[in-house]
Amino acid sequence: MNNNVRIGIDLGGTKIECVVLENHQEIFRKRIATESAKGAEHIINQIKKIYGEALTYINNADHKLGICSPGSISQKTGLLRNSNTTCLNGLPLSQMLEDKLNHQLLIENDANCFALAEATLGAGQDYECVFGIIMGTGCGGGFVFNKRVRQGPNLISGEWGHSILHTEGLNCYCGKMGCVEKYISGGGIASILKENNINLSANDFFNKSYFNKNEKKIYEKFLDDFGQAVSNVINSFDPDVIILGGGLSNISALYSEGVDKIKLNTFSDSFKTRILPNQLGDSSGVIGAAML
Ligand SMILES: [Zn+2]
Repeated sequence: MNNNVRIGIDLGGTKIECVVLENHQEIFRKRIATESAKGAEHIINQIKKIYGEALTYINNADHKLGICSPGSISQKTGLLRNSNTTCLNGLPLSQMLEDKLNHQLLIENDANCFALAEATLGAGQDYECVFGIIMGTGCGGGFVFNKRVRQGPNLISGEWGHSILHTEGLNCYCGKMGCVEKYISGGGIASILKENNINLSANDFFNKSYFNKNEKKIYEKFLDDFGQAVSNVINSFDPDVIILGGGLSNISALYSEGVDKIKLNTFSDSFKTRILPNQLGDSSGVIGAAML
């Protein structure tokens, strides 16, 4: 086995997944339950268990190790924050894992891992500058330049979901009003549909073939908001490609009418930006972790 061996571990709320890549080819994959109700120590032991199996598989060969975790490590304190696996919040997760696994590692959040996975082995592999967008429960983003995640001095590069789309708009849990996430994430759309007494999932609603007058208004507003929010990214960074992930990335109108709305708001008389669906699906977290 040669030196280009990478291990990625995706720490999810319900499952922990591990892959081993050798020369960017997947040679091992395993998934176990997180069992997060049993607490932080148990979760860390589960990670050690799956990592141990990967190590056995590669005969303890030299490797790089990356972890994909929800939330982020605070630059101020070194402690994990904002993870939905709440028992891990407030812990020095990076240090604890390095001690337990006895190996150096890098940790990134799921949006950055998504962007990196797609930039290296997915839809963005032929491009230098990639912006990845997750339109899932929330709205996250990651900015990758030359196959490296751009972190920034505040470690918030890509946190585009909490930029303001509508001043004095809907209240967001982050304390601000009118964040992008309130309008074009799965969670945001679910609330908007509920308020309008529409009992359909976001995907079922937006992929419908007929809309009444009120539904058409919601449909148009969503595409307008998408176009405005994405054009703000293009006007700021002008990435080569924007890759969409998360449940809402399956809405086909995003790649036709949605792109037209982006063009309308982009400050340029030409538009060459590629807007593409992801290629790696649910594997982006674990692949991105391996590529850190
Ligand atoms: Zn917000």
